[in-house]
Amino acid sequence: MQADVVVIGAGALGLSTALHCALNGQSVVVVERDAAGSQASGRAAGLFKSVQADELRTSLARDSIGKAVSFGDWAGVPLEVARSGSFLIARTQRHRGFIRAEAGQSAGWGVHLREATAGDLAGRVSYYRGSGDELAIWCPEDVYIEEPMSLVQAYLAACRLHGAEVLEYEAATGVLVNGGRVTGIETTARLIAAPAVVDAAGAWVRQVAGLAGAQIPVAPVRHQLLITAPLPEVDPAEPITRVADAAVYLRPARGGLMLGGFEPAPLAVDPRGEHASFSTADVPLDLGVLRDMAGQVADEAPLAASGPVAEHRGGLFTMSPDGRFVVGPVPGTAGLWVASGCNGSGFSSSPALGDALASWIQSGSPPDGMAALAPARFAAMTDDVLIERGIWQYAHYYDPMAADQT
Ligand SMILES: Cc1cc2nc3c(=O)[nH]c(=O)nc-3n(C[C@H](O)[C@H](O)[C@H](O)COP(=O)(O)OP(=O)(O)OC[C@H]3O[C@@H](n4cnc5c(N)ncnc54)[C@H](O)[C@@H]3O)c2cc1C
Repeated sequence: MQADVVVIGAGALGLSTALHCALNGQSVVVVERDAAGSQASGRAAGLFKSVQADELRTSLARDSIGKAVSFGDWAGVPLEVARSGSFLIARTQRHRGFIRAEAGQSAGWGVHLREATAGDLAGRVSYYRGSGDELAIWCPEDVYIEEPMSLVQAYLAACRLHGAEVLEYEAATGVLVNGGRVTGIETTARLIAAPAVVDAAGAWVRQVAGLAGAQIPVAPVRHQLLITAPLPEVDPAEPITRVADAAVYLRPARGGLMLGGFEPAPLAVDPRGEHASFSTADVPLDLGVLRDMAGQVADEAPLAASGPVAEHRGGLFTMSPDGRFVVGPVPGTAGLWVASGCNGSGFSSSPALGDALASWIQSGSPPDGMAALAPARFAAMTDDVLIERGIWQYAHYYDPMAADQT
């Protein structure tokens, strides 16, 4: 078998890259060791966020929102997106400062947002009762996808529609390198010759890079959410709320409420130290952590804190030392590319990231700004430093500006 591009991993990042390569006219094969979307992507909260910490991530996030809502037009497959908008809320003085500064710079980068009055907040969200003292920013561009698997299924259908082949339950077991250049991969079933190989293996990205003797500095870190049983008080048309000082997000889900959050003491998990078949289903979950987070917003969102839990799920983010995506050519191995370093936003940025990476692979030149995401920006570092930095980025997802104060 042979292809112009082989993608390893059928999560959101791998499938989007494959789809865009196919749309560019390249022949593409995706290999996936399990079912497509079965790991991080199928467990995501499905949230898209226009306010980001820097201009490049803002433009990737906004392009991705645009591509998600117009998916049928460019990919040829329907995709349902809830155009809910969101509130970004801060209840402490410190976080009011962060959010106000973040909103100011985001507006400068073109994001539509405005400070909301207590009346706006109360009028739009009934599951979150503000005290009137909070700072709330209304972000009308923000959207969510109710079931994350629907984006995976849409990518899969679009890949097939445009000629990309997706081979599930077939793991990459080797990356073939000759004279410092990739020539293809070996899977559990065959050899696939290709001049370009994309490592989009999520929490396993380091193992896959290791098959070519390369290193990618990302640290997998646990993330969890819960969905309550259906609650008649929740209006499914209401927006997302993100409470920055509690590092918690909420949205309507399956007739109830979803609550997820960024743990103050996050759990790093290294699949390299686990058994060979280790999967997301083996990541230890801890409902107590979510209960504590729900407790932090219990006054404002009592239904999330007290409602019976219908689903508790979690998986692994791939955190990078600087909180930015790790996308581009892998140094030292020509033809090997990576799409990783999701830092909690890989699902929602996948439409634009896949597009950018596909055009980089085809043309050999990075699209505008993308060179800044290439893995070559990192000097060698020990696992301890990598994990420490990745965990800092995780714990400060909603207040990256805290970096300026440490
Ligand atoms: C609970 C939770 C909530 C989240 N919420 C959001 C959100 O609201 N918004 C957002 O943007 N992001 C969110 N994320 C993050 C998001 O899920 C990830 O950024 C995104 O799914 C990463 O996609 P991926 O393709 O890199 O990884 P994955 O979806 O994990 O895909 C990687 C794939 O590679 C496969 N693979 C591994 N090794 C091999 C091999 N050797 N051969 C073949 N295949 C292999 C794996 O089986 C896997 O299917 C959330 C994550 C979690 C866990």
